[in-house]
Amino acid sequence: MKHEIDLLAQVPDGLFIGGQWRPADEGATLGVCDPATGGIVKQVADASRADGIAALDAADAASADWAATSLGRRADLLRGAFDLLQERAEEFALLLTIETGKPLEESRAEVAYSGDFLRWFSEEAPRIQGRYGQNATGTGRMIITQHPVGPCLLITPWNFPLGMATRKIAPALAAGCTVVIKPPELAPLSTLFFVSLLEELGLPSGVVNVVTTSSAGAVSKPLLRDPRLRKLSFTGSTPVGIRLLEQAARGVLRTSMELGGNAPFIVFDDADLDRAVEGALKAKFRNVGQACTAANRFIVHHSLADEFARRLAGHARAFTVGRGTDHGVEVGPLIDERAVTKVKHLVDDAVARGATLHAGGAPIEGPGTFFAPTVLSDLQAGSEILREEIFGPVLAVSTFDDEDQAVRMANDTNYGLVSYVYTENLARGQRMIERLETGMMGLNVGVVSNAGAPFGGWKSSGLGREGGAEGIHEYLQTKYTLSANPFA
Ligand code: NAP
Repeated sequence: MKHEIDLLAQVPDGLFIGGQWRPADEGATLGVCDPATGGIVKQVADASRADGIAALDAADAASADWAATSLGRRADLLRGAFDLLQERAEEFALLLTIETGKPLEESRAEVAYSGDFLRWFSEEAPRIQGRYGQNATGTGRMIITQHPVGPCLLITPWNFPLGMATRKIAPALAAGCTVVIKPPELAPLSTLFFVSLLEELGLPSGVVNVVTTSSAGAVSKPLLRDPRLRKLSFTGSTPVGIRLLEQAARGVLRTSMELGGNAPFIVFDDADLDRAVEGALKAKFRNVGQACTAANRFIVHHSLADEFARRLAGHARAFTVGRGTDHGVEVGPLIDERAVTKVKHLVDDAVARGATLHAGGAPIEGPGTFFAPTVLSDLQAGSEILREEIFGPVLAVSTFDDEDQAVRMANDTNYGLVSYVYTENLARGQRMIERLETGMMGLNVGVVSNAGAPFGGWKSSGLGREGGAEGIHEYLQTKYTLSANPFA
């Protein structure tokens, strides 16, 4: 416990604006809770509207100089941040476990994932390039150049707070943009600690500004109306994303929106069942199901469904549930009481409509906000769990008879983030790539995220891509210049 207290004491508790840590307007603070105990672990500054505007002032003031910084310098800073994050990986992992509840092993994986974006975009920065060529008549020369979009507002969720922060900060800085980041109210500590590393590395004042707040809407709204802000990058729920898109439309802001999901997980009758079960465990129970990429609807061929549900129920009952810092814990708490109530409602609704309960089904008594890993089958049409993002440890199995029906069921949602397909038939796997309406697909794998991939969704799951060669272009704008023929 002492090392947790020492670590928490190292995390800054202020706003970071213009290169200075400082308290919020009028000294307001907000408490950060450990969801495994329900106790408040630290107070951090609670920014007001005026603090948000001060952060944008700083980002705007630093914008021209940062845009003029050499690509090599940007790359070195990000590489330095990667190296420092590796050195301090255990501290970051513990902090993530304290603020989100996820088991330490999963927190370590999130730290590695977060670092990958720093390394990836340190390597992408020097690759920002343009084009040069003749126009068709030969009377001119076309010069196509790339420029940073300008000051950005980055808004991140609590489920992967460090991963989502570096997935936005790294490409923004690589492209030459300054940022104001608003971390999640429920889990702001890893972002504050990460920004203190950037400060240690000599990050110029105003390039990254952090505002923690309990009034997300009040702080972000004036920034979205301010003509100095040029981009919004948001990761969070679809309803909040839609509201922010409406606000961003006024200033015709560039937007990247990583929104909610309702991922289908299809198991065909020719699947390797062992592999499918292993993939399902990862796709469903990682971060207690609190992932945008979590498998939400298990669509299993009727010939395998009983065996699939039976095996997963066995695993669900055997999981060790507890505080993520404790040895051997595989499943942590949900983020808060509201999440427990929502998951319970979805399970109760499904059971009331005729679903069969194989394991779990109810919250686990506190302290902490735990829900028992749950497996349901025989889901009936109309069950809310088939429409809603569950965001909890509930695996719900429906059945299908043929490929067309599986595709219809999988695509029957407004979301389109990711799908998972298990089949040993290559042609069928390829058909699924063409038929499933999702921005990403796992073919015989249960986790798809990595820094080298263009992460993002179709339909109501979002706009734009984070990571991959595509990721940096979200923070760049193109200019075309026609220059007179230099030989004329
Ligand atoms: P959320 O409630 O939409 O919040 C996301 C962020 O938006 C938080 O920082 C939140 O601040 C802020 N926010 C809330 N209302 C706002 C408003 N009116 N104006 C400006 N900002 C506002 O989502 P969440 O519960 O944190 O995260 C879970 C959701 O994120 C799920 O739907 C999940 O699928 C999605 N997600 C998507 C991806 C992806 O890459 N597609 C990745 C991870 C998560 P507060 O914390 O202060 O409320």
